[in-house]
Amino acid sequence: MIEGIDHIGIAVHSIEEKRALYEEVLGLSHEGTEVVEEQGVKVAFFRAGASLIELLEPIDEEGPVARFLEKNGEGIHHLALRCDDIETERQQVESAGVRLLSDRPLDGAHGKLISFLHPRDTGRVLLELTQRKEQGDK
Ligand code: ZN
Repeated sequence: MIEGIDHIGIAVHSIEEKRALYEEVLGLSHEGTEVVEEQGVKVAFFRAGASLIELLEPIDEEGPVARFLEKNGEGIHHLALRCDDIETERQQVESAGVRLLSDRPLDGAHGKLISFLHPRDTGRVLLELTQRKEQGDK
């Protein structure tokens, strides 16, 4: 089951450069910055009510976010939907003919499991499924 919008991912050249906008101008609280090696990014989270804003800064020049920035510049990169069971959602999506970008859930930031849907099958919106690994995790 999809429980809501977990976060919106925004690609930036520099988290340091952009964090004042979210923290000081908009007054959102910073909920941590971490490196997600598997995705070649550094991510910073800012709390916006029930959802988060996730700034993505590439640390790997060949990674998907670096390529996105090269092609499109800074901007909205993906929309993440929180689900209670990522395996069930993956099966449901695939049985509807929507492709997934990985053959298994990957490790995301905050210890979450994530999977991306193929943007060619979603009207060019990069959708992420995300599931907390354990109940009670943020
Ligand atoms: Zn994300």
